[in-house]
Amino acid sequence: MFICGCAPGILTYVFDSHDGRPAETAWKHEMNLGNREVAGHPLPTSGIATGIQIGVRPAETVIPAFNIPYLPMMEPVVAALRETDCFGMIAVARLEWIKFEARSLRAVHEEYERVGDERFTRLHLDHIPVIDEDNLRVDFEAEIREAIRLGYQSVMVDGSRLSLEENIQATRRITAIAHAAGIPVEAELGAVLGHEAGPLPPYEELFATGKGFTSPEEAKRFVAETETDWLSVAVGSVHGALMSHCQKVEARLDLAHLQRIHEATRIPLVLHGGSGIKTEYILEATRRGIAKINIGTAIRQAYQAALPISLVSAQQAVHDTTVLILRELGLQGSRKLIHLDS
Ligand SMILES: [Zn+2]
Repeated sequence: MFICGCAPGILTYVFDSHDGRPAETAWKHEMNLGNREVAGHPLPTSGIATGIQIGVRPAETVIPAFNIPYLPMMEPVVAALRETDCFGMIAVARLEWIKFEARSLRAVHEEYERVGDERFTRLHLDHIPVIDEDNLRVDFEAEIREAIRLGYQSVMVDGSRLSLEENIQATRRITAIAHAAGIPVEAELGAVLGHEAGPLPPYEELFATGKGFTSPEEAKRFVAETETDWLSVAVGSVHGALMSHCQKVEARLDLAHLQRIHEATRIPLVLHGGSGIKTEYILEATRRGIAKINIGTAIRQAYQAALPISLVSAQQAVHDTTVLILRELGLQGSRKLIHLDS
């Protein structure tokens, strides 16, 4: 698989539904089905069991996390997870309400209360940077406290632009706060590039030098001292959040390097920048410690490409792209492999 919203196939998905009905009809049919199911099973929302109790056996499956830079993307992602019987996370990063149209922590949470389905989803706060992509300091602690108060079920603190010492300190502050509330924490060590303004260095150069890759030795110390539950690592993937009209770079993963981080840390690792990586790499990565994969660019570009037609078409495109990704990753039916304790 090569997941990329710029691939020529995407527009086909916009216009043709998978069963030959016009996109709008197919979409409404699926949404109504989903709503009926939800209405029949009132679901707990905020303040419920957290991701700390989400167990995933390494190599058995992987939890996909879908970023929602536009609120109307959430409902079709949830529908796609339900339809494929797959468990996934609905995720929003600060960048997505600052630079895209996710609006706010509260708006995303309200939409999740409306369309989330606790049998298939949890709400995750993605990147809250300590220093943001424009090099400005962020009151990361206040934003994460706010998310926990609202009912987000897991949180990420991103101190990857800090020195190792400062990253450890910032992450410890967050694990103390979040764990007291029963909320798991994801942290990042190493530099998964692509959120910064300006052009990236040539990808092949980055990959060959391993520049920014997570150091296994540092990761071992980081995990021991911060008690983070998940660790986002840099092993070759690239974020695509700011690339809206260009082809995302086709990234590879340094699997031997990933293996070393896995052996040094022995906690679930997270792969950011999942769109644009060939399936064979992703599947091998899940055998080497990757337990969660973030997917953003592919579904965002599908949405943006179809939005000029109609909102319904854009939602249909998100739905179809999500189903396609889940199938290509072999995640249909994976919900039974996730141990949810709610
Ligand atoms: Zn990321």
